[in-house]
Amino acid sequence: MLLKALYLVSACLAGANTRFDGTARPDPEIVRLVREGRAIPICPEQLGGLPTPRPPSEITGGDGHDVIAATARVLTCEGRDVTEAFLRGAQETLRLAREWQIAGAILKARSPSCGYLQIHDGSFEGGLRAGSGVTAALLKEAGLQVFCEETWKDKQALTDQPRGESRP
Ligand code: SF4
Repeated sequence: MLLKALYLVSACLAGANTRFDGTARPDPEIVRLVREGRAIPICPEQLGGLPTPRPPSEITGGDGHDVIAATARVLTCEGRDVTEAFLRGAQETLRLAREWQIAGAILKARSPSCGYLQIHDGSFEGGLRAGSGVTAALLKEAGLQVFCEETWKDKQALTDQPRGESRP
């Protein structure tokens, strides 16, 4: 049966106050997808058990793929190691993605969890580096399509297709 493709989206892009400082970054197009029942908001850091608000975190020594491979860590600006919470949130996000047969994910750019292809560099000074956040990396490794809010519109990702089927 042909159904509308269902996407996971970062909860902060859908208007939820889930960011580390207790704010949202609503994107009108993402909000519209949620209203139309075509996207489900999730916050991997909250799913991992972190509170809101919380100290900002960045990946040090690599990116999300390296965190999954246990060769990099996620630290707060105060130096606390929150790697396990980030991994827990990523794994729970992947579990839900499979349970709900989602077609892909549209995630918040540059986040240490949700960022795709570019994240902060671990210095807490605003620098960026190539790489993905922990959740974006895990979803990608599992074969799901991943976009950030700045790129998905270009990819024409949200066409109707059978549930669970990824576009090339
Ligand atoms: Fe938004 Fe993702 Fe950060 Fe949650 S973990 S606040 S969804 S960017």
